[in-house]
Amino acid sequence: MKQSNSSSPSIPENFSRKKFFIRSLRLMRAMGVGVLFFPNRLGARNKTSAKKKKRFAMVIDAAKCTGCHACAVACKTENDGHLGVWRCDVKEYVSEIKGKVKLDFMPLQCNHCENPSCIEVCPVTKDKFGHRATYQRKDGIVLVDNQRCISCGKCVSACPYDARFMDPITNKANKCTLCAHRLDRGLVPACVNTCPSQVRTIWDLNDPKLKKIQKSAKLLMPEHGTRPAVYYLGIEPNDSYQDGVGTKDRWAQEM
Ligand code: SF4
Ligand code: SF4
Repeated sequence: MKQSNSSSPSIPENFSRKKFFIRSLRLMRAMGVGVLFFPNRLGARNKTSAKKKKRFAMVIDAAKCTGCHACAVACKTENDGHLGVWRCDVKEYVSEIKGKVKLDFMPLQCNHCENPSCIEVCPVTKDKFGHRATYQRKDGIVLVDNQRCISCGKCVSACPYDARFMDPITNKANKCTLCAHRLDRGLVPACVNTCPSQVRTIWDLNDPKLKKIQKSAKLLMPEHGTRPAVYYLGIEPNDSYQDGVGTKDRWAQEM
C-alpha cells in the first residue's frame, strides 16, 4: 500500500486518471458545459428536435394520365370497395378549343385537406384524442371511424370535392384513406403503386423537393379554404372541363 504524503492533499486510494475524467465529464454535463466540447452531438440533437413531423401529400400529374382507370381498380381491390362507389376515380372531360375537341382525364380522390370542411360538421362528440367520427391524424390523413359514425351524411355534404359517399352496404361515410394501412407499413398507396404512367406520387410535405413542385402545381377549388394536400400538375389555371352530364366546373385556380 502506498503511503500518503502529509504535505499534499489526500488522494483516495482507489484514485485513477480514468475515474477522474469520467467524474469530470458527468459534472460538466450536469452543469451544461459539455455542449461546448461536443458541438456535433448538440447539432445532431437540435436537428432531431427541429425535424418536422411527417405530413403526407400527393402529387398528381394529370397531363400524364391516359384514363386507364388502373388506379381506381387497384383502390377498389385494396380497400374492398363495394359496387357502384369509388374512393378514387378518374373523370373524363371533353372540351372544345378553336373547333377542336379535347379529351382530358382527371384523377380525383379525397385531398386530405389541411383545413378539412368535413370534420367540423361531424356531430359526434370528440373522444379523449379530440377525434370526432371523422378526424385527422397527425400525419394529415383524414379518416372515418366506422364504429363511431352515426350515418348522418353531414360530412358528405360538407366536402366541396364530392370525395365522400355513404357506403351502400355499411351505410357509413366512406372515402379514400390514402391507404393509411400501407403507408404505416412503409408502402405507397395502391393507386400510386399501380399507375403505369406514374401519374401519382406520394410525398412528405416537409420535403424541399416538393416545395419546388408546389410552385408550378395547382390546388382544386382553393377558394373553399380547405388547403388540399393533393397537388395537380398538367392542368391550366383557367381550364374549364365538361363532364359526361354536361356540368361545367372550374376546378383549378392559381394557388
Ligand atoms: Fe390515370 Fe394512372 Fe389512374 Fe391510369 S392509373 S387512370 S394513368 S392516374
Ligand atoms: Fe374532407 Fe373533402 Fe377535404 Fe377529403 S377532400 S379532407 S373529404 S373536405
